[in-house]
Amino acid sequence: MNQETPKQIAILGSTGSIGTQALQVIAAHADRFEARVLTANHRWELLAEQARQFKPAAVVIADESHYEPLRDALADLPIAVYAGADALCQVVESPEVDMVLTAMVGFAGLPPTIAAIRAGKPIALANKETMVVAGELINGLCRQYQVPILPVDSEHSAIFQSMMGEVSPIEKIILTASGGPFRTFTCEQLETVTPAMALKHPNWDMGAKITIDSASMMNKGFEVIEAKWLFGVEPEHIQVVVHPQSVVHSAVQFADGAVKAQLGVPDMRVPIQLAFSFPERLQSDFDRLDWFTMHDLTFERPDTDRFRCLALAYVALHRGGNAPCIVNAANEIVNRAFLEGRCRFLQMADIIEETLQRATFIKQPTYEDYLQSDAQARRIAAAFLSSSFNV
Ligand code: NDP
Ligand code: MG
Repeated sequence: MNQETPKQIAILGSTGSIGTQALQVIAAHADRFEARVLTANHRWELLAEQARQFKPAAVVIADESHYEPLRDALADLPIAVYAGADALCQVVESPEVDMVLTAMVGFAGLPPTIAAIRAGKPIALANKETMVVAGELINGLCRQYQVPILPVDSEHSAIFQSMMGEVSPIEKIILTASGGPFRTFTCEQLETVTPAMALKHPNWDMGAKITIDSASMMNKGFEVIEAKWLFGVEPEHIQVVVHPQSVVHSAVQFADGAVKAQLGVPDMRVPIQLAFSFPERLQSDFDRLDWFTMHDLTFERPDTDRFRCLALAYVALHRGGNAPCIVNAANEIVNRAFLEGRCRFLQMADIIEETLQRATFIKQPTYEDYLQSDAQARRIAAAFLSSSFNV
């Protein structure tokens, strides 16, 4: 029998794709993990349902307009109910919290992640936008507060797993990409793709924002930036390889030419569970690879002419400073606009590129600079969008 007290986990974004899968992991290992804090943006009913099942000490609804119905729904339970973005930062600081899973979407994940690091909480990092926007700042804070980051993104978990036990430097990261639903589309076909088509990812069932980012390959660009900051590898040593079957989750090549990869059935619960239990691996009933039905594992070069968002991420990475923050903010605007039918698929890269040219460049941004750059880039991208969109 395990005598340890269960690890107390705060899940920022418990109602999303990663959040709900994290709760499945917690439910399957109730002796090891407990949900201490659950949070959502506006889906308060699902949050209340989760709170009834998992009995956290506190819940937070970021959108304050849902505070009252949430509080009323949980009135018979000893659960503290808070609302607003600042409350997200406060709940992660609770002395009872042992680990914070950042499963929120977008730039909004940055302030609570920083609050968690300052409070000394290990981070299970799903919210890649945090590393894209402010990787250098986050790394500095992690060093200062001696806080580890456990990657949840499947590729970064695969890289992390491939590096376990290694003491020599990485020669090259092989970052795999499924290529998304439009992998084989021509530019002409990409002109007319719809949100419904983009939302049908071939291998992964994820939230809407990251699914659109996967279709445009902006997601892979962000993952290159995330890999640079998580593993200290320069972009010229990070090779994106399109691998449509999503079985090889990523790989690392060493100085002697040896390549170590992590393989598995696409299932985000594997990296989520490992981030929670590291350095141990826990038993699971997730599907296993079937080596005899897995016929063709194929690998292709990415096409940055058709998927320009990937190229733009490299431009931002080379420029450094607040350039990735600008690209992230512009992308959040065009991603939402595409989903809502206000922006065409190929127009997303145009607007991100224009925003990157127009927004104020800051070589060594502070936290305040990031907040301002994010706001400025959103304004610029929104202005481009309204001036250039015509169906
Ligand atoms: P979802 O859209 O499914 O869920 C997002 C969660 O965050 C929801 O709980 C949502 O609340 C909450 N949220 C959204 N915006 C805010 C905000 N402004 N303030 C507070 N809470 C907010 O996203 P995913 O689970 O797909 O992705 C989460 C993160 O993990 C992203 O950064 C993504 O890039 C990353 N990731 C996801 C993967 C996946 O398989 N899904 C794989 C690898 C990385 P509500 O439900 O109320 O809207
Ligand atoms: Mg990924």
